[in-house]
Amino acid sequence: MIADNLQTIRKTITDTALNCGRDPSTIKLVAVSKRHPSASIREAMAAGQDLFGENYIQEAAEKYRTIGTGASFHFIGHLQSNKAKLAAELFTMIETIDRYKLAKTLHGHLEKLGKSLDVLVQVNIGRDPKKSGVLPEETEVLLKKIAPFSRLRIRGLMTMPPFTMDHNESRSYFKALRLLGLELGEKSLFFDNESIELSMGMSHDFPVAIEEGATIIRIGTAIFGERPLQQ
Ligand SMILES: *Cc1c(COP(=O)(O)O)cnc(C)c1O
Repeated sequence: MIADNLQTIRKTITDTALNCGRDPSTIKLVAVSKRHPSASIREAMAAGQDLFGENYIQEAAEKYRTIGTGASFHFIGHLQSNKAKLAAELFTMIETIDRYKLAKTLHGHLEKLGKSLDVLVQVNIGRDPKKSGVLPEETEVLLKKIAPFSRLRIRGLMTMPPFTMDHNESRSYFKALRLLGLELGEKSLFFDNESIELSMGMSHDFPVAIEEGATIIRIGTAIFGERPLQQ
């Protein structure tokens, strides 16, 4: 079932990208495996998927031990500073930098580890009080404050807008993130201002996100099915 789902999603990614004049290879699919067992990750790997997203550090660490190399993981959950060391060790990208203290702590661990890490800044584009992320108008200040942390390669922006099945509403959030990325890119606030990553779009709205410029989409349910409440 996971293989079929992946095939369907890949086809939708390709069709949507081509329909709006984008190169499908510029869109990375993060298979969000939170609360699903390692066996599901292996099943997806057998179907050619090698990039996964996890929200909980402890759970990810356990999976990392059973899966080993062969897959890479993005951290997409809320990161507490006291888990930053493990996060720096396990993930190839942390998508949820949203405050100075976290960036500072993470940078300290990266210095000790002698490595650099790709990160995204999470923006609360819908001003949802229940969601993490820096407010749109505070993003520039945060980017400038964390710019000296040279071991963080700030690749772009990530957002998780308020849930809605209304595609026009989703589109307005995705568009707002794209425009914010453009504006900040013009001020040279990213690692590579010619190619800014935009992580946006989930199971129910990823085609709209692709139309609005997503370069990373994060899909869980549509690949793995409903999440078990407890693993
Ligand atoms: C769980 C999660 C997803 C995946 O959501 P689905 O609706 O299952 O596709 C994407 N992004 C983040 C940040 C998540 O926490």
